[in-house]
Amino acid sequence: MALSLPEAFLSSLENSAGFDKESFVKIHNGASAITSIRYNPVKINQYKGLLPADKVLWNPYGYYLSERPSFTHDPLFHGGLYYVQEAGSQFLWEVLSQTISRKEDIKVLDVCAAPGGKSTLLSSYFHKGLIVANEVIKSRVNVLSENITKWGTGNIVVTNNDPQHFSGIKNYFDVVLIDAPCSGSGLFRKDNSAIAEWSEEKVVLCSKRQQRILSDIYPALKQNGLLIYSTCSYSPQEDEEILDWLTDNFSLENIPLQLQNEWNITTVNSLKYKSEGYKFFPDRTRSEGFFIAAFRKKDGEIFADKMSTSKILLPDKNEIKETEKWIDTNYEIDLIKHFDSIIAINKNRMEDVAFLQKHLYIKKAGTEVGEIKNKGLVPAHDLALSSIFAKEIPVIYLDKAQSLQYLKRKDLYIDTEIKGWAIVNYEGVNLGWVKVLPNRINNYYPNEWRILKD
Ligand code: SAM
Repeated sequence: MALSLPEAFLSSLENSAGFDKESFVKIHNGASAITSIRYNPVKINQYKGLLPADKVLWNPYGYYLSERPSFTHDPLFHGGLYYVQEAGSQFLWEVLSQTISRKEDIKVLDVCAAPGGKSTLLSSYFHKGLIVANEVIKSRVNVLSENITKWGTGNIVVTNNDPQHFSGIKNYFDVVLIDAPCSGSGLFRKDNSAIAEWSEEKVVLCSKRQQRILSDIYPALKQNGLLIYSTCSYSPQEDEEILDWLTDNFSLENIPLQLQNEWNITTVNSLKYKSEGYKFFPDRTRSEGFFIAAFRKKDGEIFADKMSTSKILLPDKNEIKETEKWIDTNYEIDLIKHFDSIIAINKNRMEDVAFLQKHLYIKKAGTEVGEIKNKGLVPAHDLALSSIFAKEIPVIYLDKAQSLQYLKRKDLYIDTEIKGWAIVNYEGVNLGWVKVLPNRINNYYPNEWRILKD
């Protein structure tokens, strides 16, 4: 049963642009939350199935679903064909397309990244750039890494650091996204616990924390760099007032965006400087609650740190030869070594990874190709879900029931002529590795990710 919305919350929004108490309450009492997904541009071309008809208007890869399926039981979800993401959050794509070009050498920081919705969007948008997806809470880094492995783009470095740890990285990033932890009112329609946990004190606490994160991260953005701030809260203290606080404390210029009328997104202006932000009210826009604003940094210096590759281990000749059997060498990548693992990173990113490693705790970088063992390379799950696997690797096509068996890490019984390592695939989307032995098939789906529910 839906909880009723806190009176203190409703009265705190009374003077907010776009807020209509009656229709806001009505939509929270009536219609159920909307489900939307965003497709993976890299995997969509191989996908053999049909796309939904109902498009999200502000993202070329976004679609609404008519009902919420069991994503856990959809192999395509595990293969990274799409990410389940609120339509409002998908507006980040439109913000980027109005504010920045997709230069090759772009460096992007997603400060509050778990579980990875915005990082996967950033990695698709800047497919030739470098994305640092950071999450401070250790227990949330695993799910972030899992989602990034599934996405398979190979241009992401996952870090596990407090925003303060970025203080040593100055004037480095072209884009910084702070999708801040917030009081969560934008989730009221789909999550009763967000209603139960809301309080005026929480809003104040979140606003202070947002300021702290922004202060810690600001120096890492370069001059003329793009700062994007977002929350899933409707509270002015976490939205419009933060925009004024930013202008009071830093050298930032607000970037107004062009909105199309049919989107029904609300432009809100901050009180003091009339900075523009964009709010998604579910009774007006087809989305849960969301807020986003963009700024350009006006001060800062040229990045001057000397980067060195000294700490990066490289594979030897034999290891490179072995690894090249597993990858498509048409891709422009460099290989590095981490313990026994061979990692592929996009060409010319070696110095960046070495530099980031000097300052941050890196949990994952690029695409893990596999581990060097006595008999050669044992391929990593990352490789099967990426684009860089060698196209000669045999592929076994599974139906849905077989795919679910595979994803539950159960025994597979398939008639096949293939011998040895093979990638399993469902409807054009790779799911992972198997090894076909004379009398059985070994299932290499990662144990910790297997589907537990029937
Ligand atoms: N960007 C994510 C996405 O699109 O999937 C959602 C991010 S969520 C709104 C906010 C994140 O901030 C959470 O993962 C949370 O763990 C993290 N967080 C919490 N406290 C933080 C702090 N003090 N500094 C930085 N991040 C924090």
